[in-house]
Amino acid sequence: MKSLNELIDEFMAFDYRAYNLRLNELEKLRQAFVVRFPILSIADIEIDDYVIGKRYILPSGRESFCYLLERSPLEELGSMRGGTALKFGIYYGQTKNDPTDMYRFKSSFGADHVSAFDGVKRVIVKLLQVASSKNVTGIDNNALSPMFKGKILSTYFPEEFLPVFSEEDIDYFLRKLNLFEYSFYSKKLFEKKQKLLEFKQSHEIFSEWNNQVFMRFLYAKFLNRPYNYDLKTIQMIGAENEKLQLDAINTAIANISDRIIPPPHLGKAELAYFMRSANEKFAALRRADFKCELDPTHLTFTRRSRNPVYINKQYTEPHHLIPIEYHAEYSTNIDISENIVSLCSHCHNKLHYGKDIDTELKQLFKLRESELASIGVTTTFSKVRNYYK
Ligand SMILES: [Zn+2]
Ligand SMILES: [Zn+2]
Repeated sequence: MKSLNELIDEFMAFDYRAYNLRLNELEKLRQAFVVRFPILSIADIEIDDYVIGKRYILPSGRESFCYLLERSPLEELGSMRGGTALKFGIYYGQTKNDPTDMYRFKSSFGADHVSAFDGVKRVIVKLLQVASSKNVTGIDNNALSPMFKGKILSTYFPEEFLPVFSEEDIDYFLRKLNLFEYSFYSKKLFEKKQKLLEFKQSHEIFSEWNNQVFMRFLYAKFLNRPYNYDLKTIQMIGAENEKLQLDAINTAIANISDRIIPPPHLGKAELAYFMRSANEKFAALRRADFKCELDPTHLTFTRRSRNPVYINKQYTEPHHLIPIEYHAEYSTNIDISENIVSLCSHCHNKLHYGKDIDTELKQLFKLRESELASIGVTTTFSKVRNYYK
Protein backbone atom coordinates (compact mmCIF):
# COMPACT_ATOMS: atom_id res chain seq x y z
CA MET A 1 0.00 0.00 0.00
CA LYS A 2 1.25 3.44 -0.89
CA SER A 3 1.96 5.94 1.86
CA LEU A 4 0.08 9.23 2.05
CA ASN A 5 3.19 11.08 0.90
CA GLU A 6 3.54 8.85 -2.16
CA LEU A 7 -0.09 9.50 -3.06
CA ILE A 8 0.50 13.24 -2.65
CA ASP A 9 3.57 13.07 -4.91
CA GLU A 10 1.59 11.23 -7.58
CA PHE A 11 -1.21 13.76 -7.35
CA MET A 12 1.18 16.71 -7.52
CA ALA A 13 2.83 15.30 -10.64
CA PHE A 14 -0.32 15.57 -12.70
CA ASP A 15 -3.76 16.19 -11.18
CA TYR A 16 -2.69 19.09 -9.00
CA ARG A 17 -1.67 21.21 -11.97
CA ALA A 18 -4.36 19.93 -14.34
CA TYR A 19 -7.21 20.50 -11.89
CA ASN A 20 -6.00 23.94 -10.85
CA LEU A 21 -6.21 25.02 -14.49
CA ARG A 22 -9.81 23.85 -14.70
CA LEU A 23 -10.56 25.32 -11.30
CA ASN A 24 -9.91 28.86 -12.55
CA GLU A 25 -12.84 28.50 -14.94
CA LEU A 26 -15.08 26.72 -12.45
CA GLU A 27 -14.45 29.36 -9.80
CA LYS A 28 -15.76 32.03 -12.19
CA LEU A 29 -18.93 29.99 -12.69
CA ARG A 30 -19.32 29.57 -8.93
CA GLN A 31 -19.00 33.30 -8.42
CA ALA A 32 -21.54 33.93 -11.19
CA PHE A 33 -23.98 31.60 -9.39
CA VAL A 34 -23.56 33.49 -6.12
CA VAL A 35 -24.15 36.77 -7.94
CA ARG A 36 -27.27 35.37 -9.60
CA PHE A 37 -28.65 33.97 -6.33
CA PRO A 38 -27.32 36.20 -3.52
CA ILE A 39 -27.86 34.89 0.00
CA LEU A 40 -29.93 37.93 0.93
CA SER A 41 -32.36 37.40 -1.98
CA ILE A 42 -33.01 33.70 -1.62
CA ALA A 43 -36.41 34.34 -0.07
CA ASP A 44 -37.40 36.18 -3.28
CA ILE A 45 -36.50 33.44 -5.80
CA GLU A 46 -39.39 32.63 -8.17
CA ILE A 47 -40.41 28.99 -8.26
CA ASP A 48 -39.33 28.42 -11.88
CA ASP A 49 -35.95 30.01 -11.16
CA TYR A 50 -35.54 27.37 -8.47
CA VAL A 51 -36.85 24.03 -9.70
CA ILE A 52 -35.07 21.43 -11.78
CA GLY A 53 -37.17 19.83 -14.54
CA LYS A 54 -38.16 22.76 -16.74
CA ARG A 55 -35.22 22.64 -19.06
CA TYR A 56 -37.33 21.54 -22.02
CA ILE A 57 -40.13 23.98 -21.25
CA LEU A 58 -38.40 27.25 -20.39
CA PRO A 59 -35.37 28.86 -22.07
CA SER A 60 -34.08 29.57 -18.58
CA GLY A 61 -34.64 25.96 -17.46
CA ARG A 62 -30.92 25.31 -17.47
CA GLU A 63 -30.23 28.33 -15.28
CA SER A 64 -32.38 27.46 -12.30
CA PHE A 65 -30.92 27.23 -8.80
CA CYS A 66 -31.23 23.44 -8.64
CA TYR A 67 -30.20 22.76 -12.23
CA LEU A 68 -27.06 24.86 -11.94
CA LEU A 69 -26.06 23.24 -8.66
CA GLU A 70 -26.64 19.67 -9.77
CA ARG A 71 -26.06 19.50 -13.52
CA SER A 72 -24.12 22.46 -14.86
CA PRO A 73 -20.31 22.53 -14.84
CA LEU A 74 -20.73 23.36 -11.13
CA GLU A 75 -21.15 19.61 -10.69
CA GLU A 76 -17.38 19.45 -11.16
CA LEU A 77 -17.03 21.40 -7.90
CA GLY A 78 -18.53 18.44 -6.05
CA SER A 79 -21.28 16.11 -7.24
CA MET A 80 -24.60 15.51 -5.54
CA ARG A 81 -26.10 13.33 -8.27
CA GLY A 82 -28.13 10.34 -7.24
CA GLY A 83 -31.37 9.90 -5.36
CA THR A 84 -34.58 11.51 -6.59
CA ALA A 85 -35.20 15.18 -7.30
CA LEU A 86 -37.15 15.29 -4.04
CA LYS A 87 -33.81 16.00 -2.39
CA PHE A 88 -34.41 19.61 -3.56
CA GLY A 89 -37.63 19.74 -1.51
CA ILE A 90 -39.58 20.61 -4.65
CA TYR A 91 -39.11 19.92 -8.38
CA TYR A 92 -41.08 19.89 -11.63
CA GLY A 93 -41.71 16.64 -13.48
CA GLN A 94 -42.87 13.07 -13.15
CA THR A 95 -42.52 10.32 -10.62
CA LYS A 96 -41.75 6.69 -11.27
CA ASN A 97 -45.47 5.82 -11.23
CA ASP A 98 -47.01 9.04 -12.51
CA PRO A 99 -46.02 10.44 -15.95
CA THR A 100 -47.81 13.77 -15.46
CA ASP A 101 -45.45 16.77 -15.42
CA MET A 102 -46.24 18.91 -12.41
CA TYR A 103 -44.67 20.39 -9.26
CA ARG A 104 -43.74 17.63 -6.87
CA PHE A 105 -42.76 18.39 -3.29
CA LYS A 106 -42.11 16.89 0.10
CA SER A 107 -45.29 17.29 2.10
CA SER A 108 -43.22 18.13 5.17
CA PHE A 109 -42.51 21.53 3.54
CA GLY A 110 -46.14 22.44 2.86
CA ALA A 111 -49.58 21.29 1.75
CA ASP A 112 -49.43 22.68 -1.82
CA HIS A 113 -46.59 23.61 -4.14
CA VAL A 114 -46.74 27.33 -3.29
CA SER A 115 -46.50 26.86 0.45
CA ALA A 116 -44.02 23.97 0.06
CA PHE A 117 -41.74 26.21 -2.01
CA ASP A 118 -41.93 28.94 0.66
CA GLY A 119 -41.07 26.27 3.23
CA VAL A 120 -38.05 25.10 1.21
CA LYS A 121 -36.74 28.67 0.85
CA ARG A 122 -37.14 29.30 4.57
CA VAL A 123 -35.11 26.17 5.31
CA ILE A 124 -32.36 27.23 2.87
CA VAL A 125 -32.19 30.69 4.42
CA LYS A 126 -32.01 29.13 7.87
CA LEU A 127 -29.24 26.79 6.69
CA LEU A 128 -27.13 29.69 5.45
CA GLN A 129 -27.74 31.53 8.73
CA VAL A 130 -26.62 28.70 10.98
CA ALA A 131 -23.65 28.11 8.66
CA SER A 132 -22.56 31.77 8.95
CA SER A 133 -22.61 31.44 12.72
CA LYS A 134 -20.60 28.15 12.52
CA ASN A 135 -23.37 26.21 14.16
CA VAL A 136 -22.57 22.66 13.00
CA THR A 137 -25.39 21.07 15.01
CA GLY A 138 -27.78 23.55 13.39
CA ILE A 139 -26.59 22.39 9.98
CA ASP A 140 -26.95 18.71 10.84
CA ASN A 141 -30.47 19.32 12.19
CA ASN A 142 -31.59 21.36 9.18
CA ALA A 143 -34.43 19.70 7.25
CA LEU A 144 -32.88 19.79 3.75
CA SER A 145 -31.38 16.58 2.41
CA PRO A 146 -27.74 16.10 3.49
CA MET A 147 -26.31 16.05 -0.07
CA PHE A 148 -28.11 19.24 -1.05
CA LYS A 149 -27.06 21.00 2.15
CA GLY A 150 -23.46 20.10 1.42
CA LYS A 151 -23.63 21.42 -2.11
CA ILE A 152 -25.28 24.71 -1.11
CA LEU A 153 -22.79 25.34 1.69
CA SER A 154 -19.67 24.54 -0.33
CA THR A 155 -20.99 26.77 -3.14
CA TYR A 156 -21.61 29.79 -0.90
CA PHE A 157 -18.73 29.13 1.53
CA PRO A 158 -16.15 27.17 -0.49
CA GLU A 159 -13.34 27.50 2.04
CA GLU A 160 -15.44 26.57 5.06
CA PHE A 161 -17.11 23.40 3.77
CA LEU A 162 -15.59 20.45 1.94
CA PRO A 163 -17.27 19.64 -1.36
CA VAL A 164 -17.80 15.99 -0.35
CA PHE A 165 -21.50 15.36 0.19
CA SER A 166 -22.05 11.69 0.81
CA GLU A 167 -21.74 10.43 4.38
CA GLU A 168 -20.43 7.11 3.09
CA ASP A 169 -17.56 8.89 1.30
CA ILE A 170 -16.77 11.08 4.32
CA ASP A 171 -16.58 8.00 6.57
CA TYR A 172 -14.42 6.22 4.02
CA PHE A 173 -11.97 9.11 3.72
CA LEU A 174 -11.77 9.50 7.51
CA ARG A 175 -10.89 5.81 7.76
CA LYS A 176 -8.33 6.01 4.96
CA LEU A 177 -6.64 8.89 6.77
CA ASN A 178 -6.74 7.03 10.10
CA LEU A 179 -8.97 9.73 11.56
CA PHE A 180 -12.07 7.67 12.23
CA GLU A 181 -12.68 7.31 15.95
CA TYR A 182 -15.12 5.08 17.79
CA SER A 183 -17.13 8.12 18.89
CA PHE A 184 -17.78 8.96 15.21
CA TYR A 185 -20.36 6.16 15.04
CA SER A 186 -22.73 8.44 16.92
CA LYS A 187 -21.73 11.66 15.17
CA LYS A 188 -23.71 13.30 12.41
CA LEU A 189 -22.48 14.06 8.90
CA PHE A 190 -21.41 17.69 9.23
CA GLU A 191 -19.72 17.09 12.55
CA LYS A 192 -17.55 14.43 10.85
CA LYS A 193 -17.05 16.58 7.79
CA GLN A 194 -15.67 19.39 9.92
CA LYS A 195 -13.25 16.90 11.52
CA LEU A 196 -11.95 16.05 8.07
CA LEU A 197 -11.62 19.76 7.29
CA GLU A 198 -9.75 20.39 10.56
CA PHE A 199 -7.31 17.65 9.62
CA LYS A 200 -6.85 19.19 6.18
CA GLN A 201 -6.16 22.64 7.64
CA SER A 202 -3.59 21.27 10.09
CA HIS A 203 -1.76 19.17 7.50
CA GLU A 204 1.57 20.47 6.27
CA ILE A 205 0.75 20.08 2.57
CA PHE A 206 -3.05 19.90 2.39
CA SER A 207 -3.37 23.18 4.27
CA GLU A 208 -1.79 24.89 1.26
CA TRP A 209 -4.47 23.51 -1.05
CA ASN A 210 -8.00 24.80 -1.41
CA ASN A 211 -10.91 22.52 -0.54
CA GLN A 212 -11.66 21.71 -4.17
CA VAL A 213 -8.19 20.40 -4.84
CA PHE A 214 -8.28 18.40 -1.60
CA MET A 215 -11.62 16.88 -2.66
CA ARG A 216 -10.09 15.85 -6.01
CA PHE A 217 -7.19 14.26 -4.17
CA LEU A 218 -9.51 12.23 -1.94
CA TYR A 219 -11.57 10.90 -4.83
CA ALA A 220 -8.66 10.30 -7.20
CA LYS A 221 -6.35 8.62 -4.73
CA PHE A 222 -8.67 6.84 -2.28
CA LEU A 223 -11.66 5.96 -4.48
CA ASN A 224 -9.85 5.76 -7.81
CA ARG A 225 -12.20 8.30 -9.36
CA PRO A 226 -9.94 10.70 -11.17
CA TYR A 227 -11.29 13.82 -12.80
CA ASN A 228 -11.97 13.45 -16.52
CA TYR A 229 -9.47 15.90 -17.94
CA ASP A 230 -9.78 16.95 -21.57
CA LEU A 231 -7.16 15.76 -24.02
CA LYS A 232 -5.63 19.21 -24.38
CA THR A 233 -4.92 19.44 -20.65
CA ILE A 234 -3.52 15.92 -20.53
CA GLN A 235 -1.18 16.66 -23.41
CA MET A 236 -0.13 20.00 -22.01
CA ILE A 237 0.70 18.68 -18.54
CA GLY A 238 2.30 15.62 -20.14
CA ALA A 239 4.57 17.86 -22.21
CA GLU A 240 5.39 19.97 -19.14
CA ASN A 241 6.24 16.87 -17.13
CA GLU A 242 8.30 15.46 -19.95
CA LYS A 243 10.25 18.69 -20.16
CA LEU A 244 10.83 18.84 -16.39
CA GLN A 245 12.03 15.27 -16.33
CA LEU A 246 14.21 15.62 -19.42
CA ASP A 247 15.79 18.74 -17.92
CA ALA A 248 16.53 16.78 -14.73
CA ILE A 249 18.03 13.88 -16.67
CA ASN A 250 20.08 16.16 -18.91
CA THR A 251 21.43 18.01 -15.88
CA ALA A 252 22.26 14.71 -14.19
CA ILE A 253 24.14 13.27 -17.16
CA ALA A 254 25.84 16.52 -18.17
CA ASN A 255 28.42 16.33 -15.43
CA ILE A 256 30.90 13.73 -16.57
CA SER A 257 33.18 14.01 -13.53
CA ASP A 258 30.31 12.95 -11.23
CA ARG A 259 29.21 10.17 -13.51
CA ILE A 260 32.54 8.36 -13.71
CA ILE A 261 33.10 8.14 -9.94
CA PRO A 262 33.32 4.40 -9.30
CA PRO A 263 30.91 2.90 -6.76
CA PRO A 264 32.20 1.22 -3.60
CA HIS A 265 32.95 -2.48 -3.95
CA LEU A 266 29.69 -4.30 -3.62
CA GLY A 267 28.53 -7.90 -3.54
CA LYS A 268 26.44 -9.23 -6.39
CA ALA A 269 23.13 -8.88 -4.54
CA GLU A 270 23.87 -5.32 -3.43
CA LEU A 271 24.83 -4.36 -6.95
CA ALA A 272 21.31 -4.93 -8.12
CA TYR A 273 20.14 -2.29 -5.64
CA PHE A 274 22.84 0.30 -5.80
CA MET A 275 23.64 0.41 -9.46
CA ARG A 276 21.56 0.70 -12.64
CA SER A 277 20.85 4.38 -12.73
CA ALA A 278 17.50 5.21 -14.34
CA ASN A 279 18.96 8.38 -15.89
CA GLU A 280 21.88 6.56 -17.52
CA LYS A 281 19.59 3.83 -18.77
CA PHE A 282 17.22 6.38 -20.28
CA ALA A 283 20.08 8.36 -21.81
CA ALA A 284 21.40 5.19 -23.44
CA LEU A 285 18.02 4.18 -24.90
CA ARG A 286 17.40 7.72 -26.12
CA ARG A 287 20.73 8.06 -27.90
CA ALA A 288 19.83 4.90 -29.86
CA ASP A 289 16.49 6.55 -30.66
CA PHE A 290 14.80 3.63 -28.85
CA LYS A 291 15.94 1.19 -31.52
CA CYS A 292 18.02 -1.99 -31.44
CA GLU A 293 21.68 -1.04 -31.80
CA LEU A 294 22.51 -4.31 -33.51
CA ASP A 295 20.00 -3.58 -36.24
CA PRO A 296 17.63 -0.59 -36.09
CA THR A 297 15.09 -2.44 -38.26
CA HIS A 298 14.51 -5.07 -35.57
CA LEU A 299 10.89 -5.27 -34.58
CA THR A 300 9.82 -3.73 -31.26
CA PHE A 301 6.58 -2.20 -29.98
CA THR A 302 5.36 0.97 -28.29
CA ARG A 303 5.87 1.12 -24.55
CA ARG A 304 3.01 1.11 -22.10
CA SER A 305 4.38 3.57 -19.58
CA ARG A 306 3.13 6.25 -17.21
CA ASN A 307 6.54 7.85 -17.13
CA PRO A 308 6.27 10.93 -19.37
CA VAL A 309 9.71 10.48 -20.92
CA TYR A 310 8.81 6.97 -22.10
CA ILE A 311 5.29 7.64 -23.38
CA ASN A 312 4.93 6.63 -27.05
CA LYS A 313 8.55 5.51 -27.22
CA GLN A 314 9.55 2.20 -28.75
CA TYR A 315 10.39 -0.55 -26.32
CA THR A 316 14.02 -1.64 -26.19
CA GLU A 317 16.05 -3.00 -23.31
CA PRO A 318 19.19 -1.53 -21.75
CA HIS A 319 22.15 -3.88 -21.62
CA HIS A 320 25.52 -3.26 -19.92
CA LEU A 321 28.19 -4.21 -22.42
CA ILE A 322 30.68 -4.73 -19.59
CA PRO A 323 28.37 -6.51 -17.13
CA ILE A 324 28.13 -4.54 -13.91
CA GLU A 325 29.20 -7.47 -11.75
CA TYR A 326 32.72 -6.80 -13.11
CA HIS A 327 32.71 -3.16 -12.03
CA ALA A 328 35.52 -3.80 -9.53
CA GLU A 329 37.92 -4.43 -12.41
CA TYR A 330 37.54 -0.80 -13.49
CA SER A 331 38.42 2.45 -11.84
CA THR A 332 35.57 4.24 -13.62
CA ASN A 333 31.84 3.79 -13.05
CA ILE A 334 30.53 1.39 -15.69
CA ASP A 335 26.85 1.96 -14.89
CA ILE A 336 26.98 4.76 -17.41
CA SER A 337 25.27 5.33 -20.76
CA GLU A 338 28.60 4.92 -22.61
CA ASN A 339 28.57 1.28 -21.44
CA ILE A 340 24.84 0.68 -21.97
CA VAL A 341 23.42 -0.41 -25.30
CA SER A 342 19.82 -0.43 -26.44
CA LEU A 343 18.66 -3.82 -27.71
CA CYS A 344 15.46 -5.46 -28.91
CA SER A 345 14.28 -8.27 -26.62
CA HIS A 346 15.47 -10.95 -29.01
CA CYS A 347 19.01 -9.63 -29.33
CA HIS A 348 19.20 -8.93 -25.60
CA ASN A 349 18.23 -12.50 -24.74
CA LYS A 350 20.60 -13.87 -27.34
CA LEU A 351 23.52 -12.05 -25.68
CA HIS A 352 22.61 -13.49 -22.30
CA TYR A 353 21.60 -17.00 -23.34
CA GLY A 354 22.75 -17.57 -26.93
CA LYS A 355 25.44 -20.04 -28.04
CA ASP A 356 27.18 -18.14 -30.88
CA ILE A 357 27.28 -14.48 -30.04
CA ASP A 358 30.75 -13.40 -31.23
CA THR A 359 29.46 -11.42 -34.21
CA GLU A 360 26.96 -9.45 -32.15
CA LEU A 361 29.39 -8.85 -29.31
CA LYS A 362 32.11 -7.68 -31.69
CA GLN A 363 29.72 -5.29 -33.39
CA LEU A 364 28.70 -3.73 -30.05
CA PHE A 365 32.28 -3.60 -28.81
CA LYS A 366 33.39 -1.74 -31.98
CA LEU A 367 30.49 0.63 -31.49
CA ARG A 368 31.60 1.62 -27.98
CA GLU A 369 35.32 0.93 -27.75
CA SER A 370 36.62 4.47 -28.27
CA GLU A 371 33.82 6.04 -26.31
CA LEU A 372 34.53 3.82 -23.31
CA ALA A 373 38.23 4.67 -23.58
CA SER A 374 37.32 8.38 -23.56
CA ILE A 375 35.85 8.04 -20.04
CA GLY A 376 38.79 5.94 -18.85
CA VAL A 377 37.45 2.44 -19.40
CA THR A 378 40.14 0.62 -21.34
CA THR A 379 39.49 -3.00 -22.14
CA THR A 380 39.92 -5.49 -24.97
CA PHE A 381 37.46 -7.54 -26.94
CA SER A 382 38.82 -10.82 -25.61
CA LYS A 383 38.37 -9.56 -22.03
CA VAL A 384 34.76 -8.58 -22.75
CA ARG A 385 34.20 -11.85 -24.62
CA ASN A 386 35.26 -13.73 -21.48
CA TYR A 387 32.57 -12.02 -19.40
CA TYR A 388 30.01 -13.80 -21.57
CA LYS A 389 31.44 -17.34 -21.20
ZN1 LIG B 1 21.54 -7.53 -20.37
ZN1 LIG C 1 17.83 -6.65 -32.13
